[in-house]
Amino acid sequence: MKQVRAAFVKQGGGVELRRLTRPDLEDSSIIVSMKASGICGTDLEKLTGLGITSTILGHEVSGVVTESASASFDEGDRVIPHHHVSCNECDHCLSGAHTMCQRYKNSNFSPGGFADEFLVPAYNVTRGGVYRISDGLSFEEATFAEPLGCCIRGLLHAGAFSLESRDMPLKLRNTLVVGAGPIGLLHMELLRSQHPEITISAVDMIPARLDFAEKKERANVIDASKVENGAFSEKSKKITGGAGYDLVVVATGSEKAFGESVKCVRKSGRLLLFGVPHKGATHLLDLASLLLDELTITSSYATSEMELQRAIELLENRKIDVGKFVTARYPLEKIEEAMSAARSENQVKVLITG
Ligand SMILES: [Zn+2]
Ligand SMILES: [Zn+2]
Repeated sequence: MKQVRAAFVKQGGGVELRRLTRPDLEDSSIIVSMKASGICGTDLEKLTGLGITSTILGHEVSGVVTESASASFDEGDRVIPHHHVSCNECDHCLSGAHTMCQRYKNSNFSPGGFADEFLVPAYNVTRGGVYRISDGLSFEEATFAEPLGCCIRGLLHAGAFSLESRDMPLKLRNTLVVGAGPIGLLHMELLRSQHPEITISAVDMIPARLDFAEKKERANVIDASKVENGAFSEKSKKITGGAGYDLVVVATGSEKAFGESVKCVRKSGRLLLFGVPHKGATHLLDLASLLLDELTITSSYATSEMELQRAIELLENRKIDVGKFVTARYPLEKIEEAMSAARSENQVKVLITG
């Protein structure tokens, strides 16, 4: 029986590395040796011990198949496995709401994506939740497939992405991304790839992030910590001549930022809520202006195989440059250090490497 190391949420919060017996290969499943694994904001949230989702850590992962009981995969295959896979049979799946599928949230790797090796269950493998990748795509780049898939789903919901053609449902001239963390920056990168002429503005309170958005994403930046009460809407709208933005992406869970963001949407424009608000967060909406100004407010949760597939295509075809987002790498034994780095203001994306 093979022993592996894997990261777990510590009792009372924090992270710890444990040694345990690796789960056995089951029919149609595969074992993947982790090569790179991105730390997501949701992993950090799980460490507080107050998370509202499963406590399994690590899902932005790539690696090599080390054992296979699946006819579709061989030992040595370079893969991106997806941790949550929908059943494709229930009402949610049949109506296209794959990420609402009950089995989607219950499927996962064992013991998790921050481990030397992990099991990708037959359920995930047989439902198309594992992708073979070319040698041209590095393991580090491959870790961005999952978060990029999530961003694609968000932009699809906002009408700013099309899976079928280059004809966008929504003609975007300008966009405001509120929150320039890893996900906000990835949104900027994706928006630029789909709408080459777009003007991007970015709001944050952390100088290093604003600097990154300005230099690497060519964004007009607004430092919310430098405007009174963090009320960034007036200053942000000035960039558009006062009319507001075609699309505002809220890549932060802050209620206050949401309120300011709503004010930044132009008439008949759209807002995408993407950052995860804390449980019970509320906001009062002026319903008259919602109607008269034809505002569309939409949200998005996670990614289905449809968007994930497109994300991998964009990465494989070099339409999206994600290498620049990786600002730190740590081996698995330094998971604790890696988690605090991911929490720090000076990092964009922190990876665990195997
Ligand atoms: Zn994630
Ligand atoms: Zn389903």
